[in-house]
Amino acid sequence: MKYSEIMVRYGELSTKGRNRKSFIDRLGNNVRNVLNDYNVEVKANHDRMHIILHDEDAKEIMNKLSNIFGIENYSPVVKVNLNIDDLKKVVLNLFKEIYHSKISFKVDTKRSNHNFEYDTYDLNKLIGETLLNNFDDVCVKMKNPDVTLALDVRNDGIYVSLNKYTGAWGLPVGTSGKALMMISGGIDSPVAAYLAMKRGVKVEMIHFYSPPYTSELALNKTKDLVVKLTKYCGPITFIEVPFTKIQEEIKNKVPSGYLMTIQRRAMLRIADIIAHKRKDLAIFTGESLGQVASQTLESMVAINDVTKLPVLRPLISMDKNEIIAIAKNIDTYGLSILPYEDCCTIFTPPSPKTKPNLLKSREFEKLVDFDKLCEEAVNNIKLTKISNNDKYIDNKINEFNSLL
Ligand code: ATP
Ligand code: MG
Repeated sequence: MKYSEIMVRYGELSTKGRNRKSFIDRLGNNVRNVLNDYNVEVKANHDRMHIILHDEDAKEIMNKLSNIFGIENYSPVVKVNLNIDDLKKVVLNLFKEIYHSKISFKVDTKRSNHNFEYDTYDLNKLIGETLLNNFDDVCVKMKNPDVTLALDVRNDGIYVSLNKYTGAWGLPVGTSGKALMMISGGIDSPVAAYLAMKRGVKVEMIHFYSPPYTSELALNKTKDLVVKLTKYCGPITFIEVPFTKIQEEIKNKVPSGYLMTIQRRAMLRIADIIAHKRKDLAIFTGESLGQVASQTLESMVAINDVTKLPVLRPLISMDKNEIIAIAKNIDTYGLSILPYEDCCTIFTPPSPKTKPNLLKSREFEKLVDFDKLCEEAVNNIKLTKISNNDKYIDNKINEFNSLL
């Protein structure tokens, strides 16, 4: 049976009082963005969103909807005229598709149209009887039935649905402001980006790369990770920062134990400048406490020192296996573990300080002309808009590496 529309019920945003309208508008636009390639009509009303399908495939559209934050659940529905015979016909057709022997059901009617000749009690009874009379071996069950047939009687028609699917929850991307996400090609930062988006943050990606120490492949792998994240929010801005010269200078001038700390300070300094220019309200990273040498509280104190913006770390208290589980869920894991070099690993000293001292960090940093180098890096950034259909690593290389 062809569904005429998808009915979307809002999540947490319904509790947001006066912000409600802007949340709904934003969610409507996010849905339109993600469904851009389809001939659908999105009507974001006060209490529900209707996605009119115009013959598009309901399953495909629901698949896309399942990733959009701010949606509590959604149902494929058939809209029927306000006529009991038409309603019975549609109900029988829908039920036929899911029918099996011993199936239990209940009819759950809501009615905002009080002019319709049947009330909720009549409709539950009439439609229940229709099903019992037309199918063998079915029963009515009020508690935990196999299927709930939902009827919604409104002024413009009756909406019939059999299934309710759970949405992605969270808040519509963009309702919590815009921030800069520091993304590497690793496992953690794409997961942190996903969690930031889940709470409504629109993220722009910043990535530091160091050719020729890091290859074009490593850069493209990171871009492909961003492609994977576009399904949650539509196109994402990717900012590439050339980092070679700064890393070489740091390596030549700073004592080995502080290489990592000073590199991180350089990254954050540049992120801070770019965030201010682009009106980003915070900087996100994929750090998790104690995971590696540079992710201790002492290290965070020494690094945060260079910016006044909030540095937010959604993974701070997560174990690696919890992070990996999310990475697999959002389909970034396979790409993240491809063995391409990262700009930090190449310049990682044999024994980095796990508890760097803030004052010493400030002193060592003076050995390098940071103002000039950071300005130069910022002047040479490259911006790319990354979209859902983009592909950066050649397919063959991808397949080959996944066999290793
Ligand atoms: P990830 O898996 O995200 O790479 P990690 O466990 O490997 O994290 P680090 O390499 O120490 O840890 O990086 C910590 C965080 O610093 C990253 O999560 C990311 O936010 C940021 N970062 C690291 N390398 C880069 C880079 N080349 N460009 C942008 N940000 C980076
Ligand atoms: Mg890393």
